[in-house]
Amino acid sequence: MNSFIVMQGDTYQIEKDLGMIWSPKQDKGGNEPHSWKRITEVNEGDQFFHYVKGNIVAVSIASEGCKEACKPSNLESSNERIEGYLVNLEYHDLEVPVNVRDKFKEIFPLLPIKYAPFQKDANGNPGYLYPCNEELAIKLLELISELNIYQVNDEQLELTIDEVRRTERNTLIPVITETESEAKTKMRWGEQKFRKDLIPLWKGKCALCAINLSEVLKASHSKPWKDSTNIERVDPYNGLLLCSNHDALYNEGLIAFDGQGRLHISSVIRNEDYVMYGLAPRAKLQIYFENKVYFKWHKKYIFRT
Ligand SMILES: [Zn+2]
Repeated sequence: MNSFIVMQGDTYQIEKDLGMIWSPKQDKGGNEPHSWKRITEVNEGDQFFHYVKGNIVAVSIASEGCKEACKPSNLESSNERIEGYLVNLEYHDLEVPVNVRDKFKEIFPLLPIKYAPFQKDANGNPGYLYPCNEELAIKLLELISELNIYQVNDEQLELTIDEVRRTERNTLIPVITETESEAKTKMRWGEQKFRKDLIPLWKGKCALCAINLSEVLKASHSKPWKDSTNIERVDPYNGLLLCSNHDALYNEGLIAFDGQGRLHISSVIRNEDYVMYGLAPRAKLQIYFENKVYFKWHKKYIFRT
């Protein structure tokens, strides 16, 4: 299962009534913007968050994969035939929408560097369909749950939890529970596979200080989960084995490695503290060719010079 964020604005009500989303194939210049083309990646069972004017207002599940379809007449005032793609969805409206700006402190750290649905100022980006990584999906589902499920009213408080769950009119709960658990399972499976394949590449030791106690060793991603494709997430070359201390420094961009495997230390760390952090300024790792592209990405986007 993959998740997406769909930016709908004025078309929301019509698309909801039709139980679908639709995107044109090309713009007037013959281009295929990424946020339009992405709809072709949708498979049955994928999950959507619907963004309308600053709020997540609904979640939905694709009842089938993407197919070719001309623009539905309800969306079109002229009779012009516009070729595009359509996905049929089962919409579930939220009683209480999630205001993205209100929750932006929690949302922002989970946005990918490329193809983020929201700008740094919390406004939505132009475009139609954006990817939603599992970390962001889980966060949005938690925020939706807080506002729509756990804030039960007095009448519901008199029921047991099981009775509340069985309330048929609330179709949102099973959708949320299921998609949240699927996203968590996907992440757990991915992290486990990544670690298992990565450990032998680094001979079971921290690449920097040679600590070899498995309890304090982390399989550290160079390109984080939120920014990676499904393949990159489990690619054992997308990262290295580090002790908890060096893993934290790497994740926070306080250290990085270049294409030759040379250690770079952020100016945030004072020279006189290098020893304390177990950092040797001219350290050079024996890296694999396949590491290069990931180390460079990390140094460019995460490293704090
Ligand atoms: Zn270490």
